[in-house]
Amino acid sequence: MADLARETEAFMDWVRSRNPGETEFLQAVDEVAATILPFAHAHPIYREQKILERLTEPDRIVSFRVVWEDDGGGIHVNRGYRVQFSNAIGPYKGGIRFHPSVNASVLKFLGFEQIFKNSLTGLPMGGGKGGADFDPKGRSPREIMRFCQSFMTELHRHIGPDTDVPAGDIGVGAREIGYMFGQYKRIVNEFEGVLTGKGMEYGGSLMRPEATGYGAVYFAEDMLHRRHESIEGKTAVVSGAGNVATHAAEKILHRGGKPVTLSDSGGFIHDPDGLDEEKIDWVKHWKAKRGASLEAYADKYKLARWHAGKLPWGIACDLALPCATQNELDADDARRLVENGCRLVSEGANMPTTKEGVEVLQAAGILYAPGKAANAGGVAMSGLEMSQNSARLRRSEDDLREALRQIMRDIHAACVRCGERDDGEVDYVVGANVAGFKKVADAMLAFGVA
Ligand code: NDP
Repeated sequence: MADLARETEAFMDWVRSRNPGETEFLQAVDEVAATILPFAHAHPIYREQKILERLTEPDRIVSFRVVWEDDGGGIHVNRGYRVQFSNAIGPYKGGIRFHPSVNASVLKFLGFEQIFKNSLTGLPMGGGKGGADFDPKGRSPREIMRFCQSFMTELHRHIGPDTDVPAGDIGVGAREIGYMFGQYKRIVNEFEGVLTGKGMEYGGSLMRPEATGYGAVYFAEDMLHRRHESIEGKTAVVSGAGNVATHAAEKILHRGGKPVTLSDSGGFIHDPDGLDEEKIDWVKHWKAKRGASLEAYADKYKLARWHAGKLPWGIACDLALPCATQNELDADDARRLVENGCRLVSEGANMPTTKEGVEVLQAAGILYAPGKAANAGGVAMSGLEMSQNSARLRRSEDDLREALRQIMRDIHAACVRCGERDDGEVDYVVGANVAGFKKVADAMLAFGVA
């Protein structure tokens, strides 16, 4: 045991020395190393072949200048990136994020997580992530279009349907994907499935917009099922007000639960009556105008309260679904959730809970699902969009909904298989990391020293 602790520390020292100051990336690697190194101890071939060392070094990172003109003729310079982390089991796959906080560390953490997530889906997809430090808030549709076109003018050289297939993420929805797809098509003169999350008119898949949020709720349902419980009648606190959060709230509602909060970067709304379909649709439309504040919800629905500058984790609940961004739930928030009776946390966002927050949740025996398992429904549906594009066919909504449900069930089962402890409880962090790692690692062994 002491050997293992020493080995983990030595490994992390090595990673830290190679990636100084990249706090988000180091946080993501630390969590994986703590669970994978014990597994690699039991299976020495992975240590001997330095699989984890190889996996923490991206295949490549492309960084480029994005110049664009605003409506007043002003010139702006942003930085774009694509982190191509691992294509061991398929083309690089992962979203594009437009947010002022985007930097190499954030995209490396997201790309690294994506390797394991994509492996868990059972579909042939490698891991990657991209984006730019561009802030779409307050920008006109024309400005966003010009930015997307300029971004793709460089990115197109690095992607392709068998090379790297980006999708949306924070700040990038169907509209931005449309602008980028249009520009790609102009440049390469080919209509191909190079992006996912496309509009239904030009090769998008039904169920893609819903898949991440619905999937996180399906995963919660499967965790509860093991304890002979269901979502029905349970109160849920949800953060975020974007694609993932609104669809998570919607599926909780479908399952007879009661979502009572949503949040954005300005604060959160608490609606003790619960959000219904009509209220969720209103949020979807309202937030589609990038920059619109959720505060307006409390003006429209009088029983709701707006809590400026706060996060929703102090509201009593049975279930919590962080669906906004990384590190939005820390140890104090986790303690508040535990004290207020929360029994389950299912992450719709990527790494929304800090390391210390996860420790508090796990020590309290709360069912805790890391994002790389719980939010894998989105990329799984992207994988099905890719196969529909390649085969030039379109699957029905019912068929895809059932496929998503089954994929989430399979991911849950894989986590149980690899994460079940002697006492019958499941460590979903161990389960997700080991199940995701093994397939990628075995593919890398097959390729030899490369
Ligand atoms: P959206 O852009 O649709 O929504 C993001 C939401 O989170 C907005 O309400 C935004 O508030 C809020 N938010 C973003 N950054 C911050 C911040 N720094 N502090 C507080 N609030 C913030 O993004 P998605 O819903 O697509 O993504 C949400 C999360 O889910 C991300 O972690 C993403 O990586 C993850 N994810 C997304 C997938 C997808 O299919 N879209 C797939 C898997 C994971 P505001 O409106 O004020 O900016």
